[in-house]
Amino acid sequence: MTNKAVIIVDMLNDFVTGDLKTERAARIVPNLKKLIEAARKHGVPVIYSNDAHYKHDFEVVHKWGGHAIKGTPGAQVIPELAPREEDFIVEKRAYSGFYETGLEPLLRSLYRGKGVETVILGGLHTHICVRHTSADAFFRGYKIIITSDGVEAFTQKDHEEGLKYLKDVYNAEIKTVNEIIEDFEKS
Ligand code: ZN
Repeated sequence: MTNKAVIIVDMLNDFVTGDLKTERAARIVPNLKKLIEAARKHGVPVIYSNDAHYKHDFEVVHKWGGHAIKGTPGAQVIPELAPREEDFIVEKRAYSGFYETGLEPLLRSLYRGKGVETVILGGLHTHICVRHTSADAFFRGYKIIITSDGVEAFTQKDHEEGLKYLKDVYNAEIKTVNEIIEDFEKS
C-alpha cells in the first residue's frame, strides 16, 4: 500500500460563502468532512492547501479581484472542515499548491522521511487550483487520486471537463470518497 496524503484545496470562506462563492461547493462539504475524518482515523496526513493572497498578487489584480486575502476571515477554512492541531496548513499565492510553497518538502518528510507517494485531492476548483496542483504533483512523480464527489467548479461543464482533463493528462484516478475510505480500511 502506498503512502498517501489527503490535500484539501481552497475550502475557504471566500470560495464557499464569500466573494468568489459557488453554490455548487455545498455538495462536497459533507463528503470532504467524511474523508478528512476517515483520514485522521487511519493516520493518513491531512494537508490544507489554502490561498493566502497579498492584495497585489498577480491573480488578484489581473484576474479574480480580491479573494482569500491573507489574515482575513475569507481566507479561513470553512468551519465545517476546520483543521485540527494534527493537520498541516500550507499557504499558497497562486493556483498550484506546489508553486513557491513548502508543500513538496512537507510531502517528502512524512511517513518518517519515506515520503508520500499518492496524493488524494479534494476541494475547489476542479479546473483551476485542483488542476494546477495536480499538474505539479504529476511533474514530481506523485500518483494522483481525485475525489469525484469531493471537488467542484463554477459550472457543471467546468467540473466535468476538469475531471476528464485530470484523468487524460495526469493519469489521475477518479474515485468517490466512499471508495477511498474503503481503501483506507483495507490498508
Ligand atoms: Zn487565488
